[in-house]
Amino acid sequence: MEIGIRVFRSIILGLAGNRAAAALSRKYGMKLGASRFVAGQTREEALTRAIELNEQKLCVTMDHLGEGVRTEAEADGYQTEYLALIHDIKERGVKGNVSLKPTQMGLALNGERAYLRIRSIVDAAAGCSMFVRLDMEDSPYTDRTLAMVKRLHAEGLTNVGPVIQAYLRRSEHDLRALSSARINVRLVKGAYKEPARIAFPERSDVDANLKRLIRARLDSGVYTAIATHDETIIDWVKTYVRRRGIPRSAFEFQMLYGIRTPLQLSLAEQGYTVRSYVPYGTMWYPYFVRRLAERPANVGFIVRSLLKR
Ligand code: FAD
Repeated sequence: MEIGIRVFRSIILGLAGNRAAAALSRKYGMKLGASRFVAGQTREEALTRAIELNEQKLCVTMDHLGEGVRTEAEADGYQTEYLALIHDIKERGVKGNVSLKPTQMGLALNGERAYLRIRSIVDAAAGCSMFVRLDMEDSPYTDRTLAMVKRLHAEGLTNVGPVIQAYLRRSEHDLRALSSARINVRLVKGAYKEPARIAFPERSDVDANLKRLIRARLDSGVYTAIATHDETIIDWVKTYVRRRGIPRSAFEFQMLYGIRTPLQLSLAEQGYTVRSYVPYGTMWYPYFVRRLAERPANVGFIVRSLLKR
């Protein structure tokens, strides 16, 4: 069973980088189910959804979808969109912050130019007392993303933090350094296709490592976002913090828009901080494929939508 799921994930994740499939799906995908995971194609639609989520006691982190840009002009466009998004979040009084992907800002093209774009966004967010999360992409970008966060902190911009992926064998080491520097981290299982040399192939090992990382962070007292839909882990966290007397103000739960919404609402109702990750935009294809790879049943859902047409 475990091998079957691994092969499934590998095949589906292989589609994430396929440009022909991306072009085709851009035409039909929203109708075929992407709208379940994407809050809208425009900023305005996403802001409206964010305000509705706020009304249901959920905080948000907003993500303008895009990654792996091919030109500096494209990256400039994403930078402009994020500056406008930060402005609108503040102006509309949305209880939220932003998440962005370093390759969307051109990290794969020119590291320094990408850094300067991200710095301008973090700086603008600092002016609005807003946090910026740098999402973690696949392993060629891990070192550079962590280096950017450390450089921003060294330059006095402390309203930014990275994501640590429990499937990577290196993560315990990375997390220790981030905790020593008291940097806000989001912990996740990890969503990309990685070789066994650097990532745990077995889900049970990833789960065990995620718990290890969560425990280390909660014990360190540095603010942590625990981003998972895994109810076993969420229940374990609730018990752990209760036993250790860790205040709820030391951490938050995060989940993706459209996934396990009743659980998000129930945790918020119980008084936990819950942040919903709200993606929007037209470049939703790779994000959507990663969501399909996480759960075989999601592919069945798409196939059923196709058959109904
Ligand atoms: P799983 O064991 O995969 O899922 C537990 C249960 O949750 C499943 O049984 C199912 O009921 C439900 N579930 C999970 N995924 C889905 C889905 N797609 N559709 C329907 N139900 C589902 N990964 C990165 O590599 N980098 C990042 O920067 C990053 N940021 C993230 C931010 C947030 C807020 C969240 C919640 C996740 C992020 N991820 C990121 C994705 C993460 O790495 C996992 O791939 C994803 O969260 C699925 O793992 P899980 O912890 O929910 O556990």
